[in-house]
Amino acid sequence: MSASLDDLPLRDDLRGQKPYGAPQAPLPVALNVNENTHPVPQEVADDILDSVARALRDVNRYPDREFTPLREAFADYLGHGLTRDQIWAANGSNEVLQHILQAFGGPGRTAFSFAPTYSMYPIITRGTGATWTAGTRGHDFTLDPADAASQVEAAAPDVVFLCAPNNPTGTPLPLDVVEAVYDATDGIVIVDEAYQEFAPHDERSALTLLPGRERLVVSRTMSKAFAFAGARVGYLAADPAFIDALRLVRLPYHLSALTQAAATAALHHAPTMLRMVDEIVAQRDRISATVEALGYRPYESWTNFVLFNGVEDSAATWHALYERGILVRDVGIPHHLRVTAGTEDETTAFLDALASVGSAS
Ligand SMILES: *Cc1c(COP(=O)(O)O)cnc(C)c1O
Repeated sequence: MSASLDDLPLRDDLRGQKPYGAPQAPLPVALNVNENTHPVPQEVADDILDSVARALRDVNRYPDREFTPLREAFADYLGHGLTRDQIWAANGSNEVLQHILQAFGGPGRTAFSFAPTYSMYPIITRGTGATWTAGTRGHDFTLDPADAASQVEAAAPDVVFLCAPNNPTGTPLPLDVVEAVYDATDGIVIVDEAYQEFAPHDERSALTLLPGRERLVVSRTMSKAFAFAGARVGYLAADPAFIDALRLVRLPYHLSALTQAAATAALHHAPTMLRMVDEIVAQRDRISATVEALGYRPYESWTNFVLFNGVEDSAATWHALYERGILVRDVGIPHHLRVTAGTEDETTAFLDALASVGSAS
């Protein structure tokens, strides 16, 4: 007989909360968590292996607590004149976000975003003891600068999350929204650019807004475009003082020597690692066009996934696709489903299966 959560002296504010729970099922076509479904290219994998093998010889020692070569590699990759003292990294951008909430959120403080948005924001906010509040989006999940600013001003949060482009909707976020929100708060403004590499190449990143804005931070991840989800590496760029704040809360040696070695090696092959991005974008656009032809209503997406409306019964269609070996995401918005753009074959399998289900309302 085992105990239940109710039998434990759990923190009161965690009672009744649900853990993050995207299903992990061994289906042939898994398009539910926005991974890059292309494997790491062989020549890069070989180099990463060499780098990890060298790091293993010193694994009896604690790793470089400041992960200096990795921060340099991220600064090089991001460009925009960034230097390593403006870079932070952790085990996935979720941990990066947790560091920010540990330093700038916590008991008695609040974090805010515009729903629907990334489901981890409330979980990280509450897990670190702060209160979560959510504002609203306009037509087709877009945000306009004046409305976003007035919502932020009214909520007066300590931390604002702006997911750009937004998960789970794919919606682009214009930079004038970032500027307006920054001016409407004295708190921290996080622009989560987890999907930035999938946006049109000529679009500016929020990195261009960093100079002169010491409360602004831009987070990124290697999980999506870089095909590195399993390695758990996320990072951010901000003012050097902001990085110093994160040093107060991180656990010592939080990035293992093996993680540092793998990520640094992968970044030296950034163009090869990112080779598949254009191909994924082509599959994304093919999904949008085809689901529309099938009678659904896809939203504009600057990411590696598509959210579409017009599903008669999301749970039933999710199950019907599951039965056909295809895992997509029911994000909890009625009549909507989200699907990640896979390889051409995976995408074809999804589109054929969806056509055979025929559940457009
Ligand atoms: C996938 C995703 C992340 C990345 O998480 P990692 O911890 O780096 O794997 C961050 N933000 C958003 C909006 C995401 O969709």
